Amino acid sequence: MKKLIYILVFIVTSCSTSKKITMLTEQDKESKSLKFPKALTSTIHNGTVKKVQFIYPFQHIDAKLFCAGNEVALGAPQDGLATVYVSASRHKNTGSFWCEYRFVVNKIEKKVAVAKFNIIDSKYPLRRLTVPKKYAKLDKETIARWEKESAHTAKVYSSAIKDRALFDKPFVKPLNSKITAIYGSKRVFNDMKNSWHSGVDFRARPGTKIPASNRGKVVLARHHFFTGKTVILDHGMGIMTMYCHLSEFKVEEGDIVPQGGVLALSGNTGRSSGPHLHWGVRVNGHWVNGFSMLNEGI
Ligand SMILES: [Zn+2]
Repeated sequence: MKKLIYILVFIVTSCSTSKKITMLTEQDKESKSLKFPKALTSTIHNGTVKKVQFIYPFQHIDAKLFCAGNEVALGAPQDGLATVYVSASRHKNTGSFWCEYRFVVNKIEKKVAVAKFNIIDSKYPLRRLTVPKKYAKLDKETIARWEKESAHTAKVYSSAIKDRALFDKPFVKPLNSKITAIYGSKRVFNDMKNSWHSGVDFRARPGTKIPASNRGKVVLARHHFFTGKTVILDHGMGIMTMYCHLSEFKVEEGDIVPQGGVLALSGNTGRSSGPHLHWGVRVNGHWVNGFSMLNEGI
C-alpha cells in the first residue's frame, strides 16, 4: 500500500512539473510572436464608466489589464476580444490616462499599452449642507468606529469578482422617484468638512422597498456610521452597487439576489438630512455616476 502511495505521489508531482515546463515554453513562444495593434485613443468624462472592447491576443499568457494604475476586470475574453468597463476618477478633470496589459514571462514583467483616454471635465457643482453636529466633528470613539468600518469596506472592494459577470442584462435604477442630490457635487458640511457626493440620492418615503439594480452577491449588509444601514452588491466584472441609509435589511451577506430582488427597506440612518436612498455605483475602483452606466447600456 505504502509503495502504491509513493508511486501515486511521484506521478502527480511529475505531471505537474512537466506541465509547468511546457507552459513556460508556450508562454515564451507566445510572447515572441505577440502582435498588438496600435493603441486606440478615446475620451471619457471624469466620474463616468464606459463599455469598451479591447483585443486580447493572449492564449497561454495570463495578462492583467490596468487603467490609470487600477486593475480592470477582464472577465473571460472570447475570440480574442475582452469586453471591459473603464471608469474615470471623479477627481481628475484634465489630462489623460493609459490602459495597458501587464504580464510576466520568464520572471520579466512586460507592459503593453492598449488605449489612451483623454479626460473631459464633467464640471461638477459645489453644494453647502447642514447636518447634525455629531456628523460634522467626530469624537475619538467615532473616529475609531469609522476607521474600522473603512478598513472592512476596503477589504470588500479589493475582493471584487473580476473573472466573470453575475448579471446577464442591463442595470436599472433602483427607484423612479425624484432625484434629490446628483452625483459628483463637492460638499461642504456645516462649513467644516469637505467631501463630495459619490452617488445619486432618490426620494424615498421610509419603508420603501429597495430593489437590486442587477443580479449580484450581497458582500456587505451592515450598519455603518456615515452610510447608516448599508447593502453592497458585487455584480462581477469589477462592478458593485451600494444602497445606504436603509431602515431594515431583507438580505444577508452571501446571498445571491436577482435583479429587482428586495434588498431592504429605505430609511434615514447614518449621516442623512432626511429619508432617502443613496445609490452608489463602483466600477474597477472608482465611484462613478450611476446614470453613465445606465446610458452605456451596461
Ligand atoms: Zn447620497
